[in-house]
Amino acid sequence: MRGVRFTKVLVTRCTFRTLYAFRTLCTFRTLCEVRTLCVISVFFSNPVHSQAEPPFCGTEGVWIQILGAGGTELDDSQAGPSYLVWIDNEARILIDTAPGSALRYDESGANFNDLDAILLTHLHASHTGDFPAFVEGSAKVGRERPLLVFGPAGSDDYLDTQSFIGRLIGPMGAYAYLADFLTYRSSAGYKLNVRNVPATGRRRWTRFGNDHFRLAAIPVQHGIVPTIAWPADIGDQSIVFAGDFNNAKGAISDFAHDTDVLVVSHAIPESARGDVREQFVLPSQIGKVAAAANARMLILGHRTNRTRGLESMSRAAIEEHYTDALIFANDLECWGL
Ligand SMILES: [Zn+2]
Repeated sequence: MRGVRFTKVLVTRCTFRTLYAFRTLCTFRTLCEVRTLCVISVFFSNPVHSQAEPPFCGTEGVWIQILGAGGTELDDSQAGPSYLVWIDNEARILIDTAPGSALRYDESGANFNDLDAILLTHLHASHTGDFPAFVEGSAKVGRERPLLVFGPAGSDDYLDTQSFIGRLIGPMGAYAYLADFLTYRSSAGYKLNVRNVPATGRRRWTRFGNDHFRLAAIPVQHGIVPTIAWPADIGDQSIVFAGDFNNAKGAISDFAHDTDVLVVSHAIPESARGDVREQFVLPSQIGKVAAAANARMLILGHRTNRTRGLESMSRAAIEEHYTDALIFANDLECWGL
């Protein structure tokens, strides 16, 4: 049935707007089946956000919602890089709390009580700026069970996640009035359980799972910033949120084998030179990583003003190595596995 309906999308040329309108039908599988017809049309250059048409993911299965697809700029009309994983109509994993993501979360219609974990890839402001907003915003939602927050352990130059959050909302923190969210005395009714995860070396951390998903953590290279890529296995499907990284040691392609979806920051164009290449992968490198990981779908988030307008060049560089489904993400889109 989905295939039949999807044909309608193709007939209407599978444009951005029709894909958006039919996004609950435009699943990953159908997208792959028709990628030669469709993916070439899935070229998003405008923000998807629409007040008139509230976004929604499908009510069944696993969906990735793009809470923010932008970078750090103040003039791109996009929230910073953040993602939400919906499992059977419940938003269970939040990846990064970038500036603007709390508003997008609100717009997504997600229920904070459904959330099992917040995963932080690293502690740059561009990925964590809204963390206090999520905490304060959750005060009245009636949550009772603890909420896990996983983020990178520190280094000589960078705070670990527990210390970072302590400096934000701890008793001596900038927002000390939120400190009881870190205790069982929380007036909000729930406690944040913050855990540091190894972010250096080549050890794969695999210490968390529940009835809905299993998490792993892979240290990756993002300049000198302790940074983690987060693979999540959900039933027989897998997603890797690779975030910001330069893949200098091949970490992602070492570990992300046969993933269904790979989500990567597309922050620099193929022509980038200099220090930014210590921070981010080039499109051609993204293509190599996606091919090595045997990814079936590649979502490019964290799109910056450096890369906007150069999508055809980026696509060409990626498709030298990787030819499956390729998505240039925009805020609030949902992509089904
Ligand atoms: Zn970063």
